[in-house]
Amino acid sequence: MNFKWITLNVDLKPMKIHKTILFALLFNIPFGAQASTGIAGCQGVEGPSLQVLGSGGPIADDGRASSGYLIWVDGRSRFLVDAGGGVFLRFGETGARFEDLEHLSISHFHTDHSADLVALLKSGYFSSRSGALSISGPMTGGDYPGTGDFLERLLDKDNGAYAYLEGYLDGSDGLVELLAVEVDPGLTKATRVYTDPDSDIDIHALGVPHGPVPSLAYRIRIGQKSIVFSGDQNGSSVGFIDFARDTDVLVMHMPIPENITGIARKLHAPPSVIGKIAAETGTGNLVLSHFMSRSLTNMEENLNQVRSHYDGPLTTAYDLDCVGF
Ligand SMILES: [Zn+2]
Repeated sequence: MNFKWITLNVDLKPMKIHKTILFALLFNIPFGAQASTGIAGCQGVEGPSLQVLGSGGPIADDGRASSGYLIWVDGRSRFLVDAGGGVFLRFGETGARFEDLEHLSISHFHTDHSADLVALLKSGYFSSRSGALSISGPMTGGDYPGTGDFLERLLDKDNGAYAYLEGYLDGSDGLVELLAVEVDPGLTKATRVYTDPDSDIDIHALGVPHGPVPSLAYRIRIGQKSIVFSGDQNGSSVGFIDFARDTDVLVMHMPIPENITGIARKLHAPPSVIGKIAAETGTGNLVLSHFMSRSLTNMEENLNQVRSHYDGPLTTAYDLDCVGF
């Protein structure tokens, strides 16, 4: 086995390369107007656009796929953020192509953000892709694997649950090589996980507070445009405000209503906090997503809570929506 993976923790100590190579970049997306197409449909959008693959949560009762977002650039499906349950199906519905993906980013290793990753990889076996594929995500912490561990536990030829796809770890058996890029969520500065100088695109990651779960937010820059994905977080990070400042689109997760308490509140930001963050960052368009039945119920009141702090453009996401910027 020659699986390559790297852990990025340059802020605290020298970069530690676990197994070898890497591919890290930074991404920036232009954001702006919004256009809901309902189905498929970001291919025809000029410039960058966000297509929501999954706007739902971890419970199969909301009629939505779990977390997943596709970034299209000039008609190509270049970047994927999260791959929760249902994203596999939605990916195909959009007309996205596995061979067009340049980087995958996973916010954390809860099922509603990562369970369909291996299904997408299997689907990719049948594509014409020939180049390696980098996947960024958090490093290990608590009960959660790091990104490299996660892939090894799935794909390792001896112990992997899907050992028949082991070629993804070293580029053998006609499969393309995966390159895991791990980020330390404890870093206080953003870490670049991908860059494409030719297209002037890069992607940065920053740890966000999601209880005991190592979790990342991502900022994708495409030329003069950018989009930020909050990931699941409770909204208490001061650093996230700077990370997301002046972005064209800010995707925030709203799985809880305003007055919820207990563990759910430790994990997630209520609508009023989301509104404050959107206002403080000065985003060009707040996209609310990752709804659960408990936040979809009485949506009007939840949106009022957001609106009590933020009066800018706002989009409530549904699966397959396309948002240009
Ligand atoms: Zn979640």
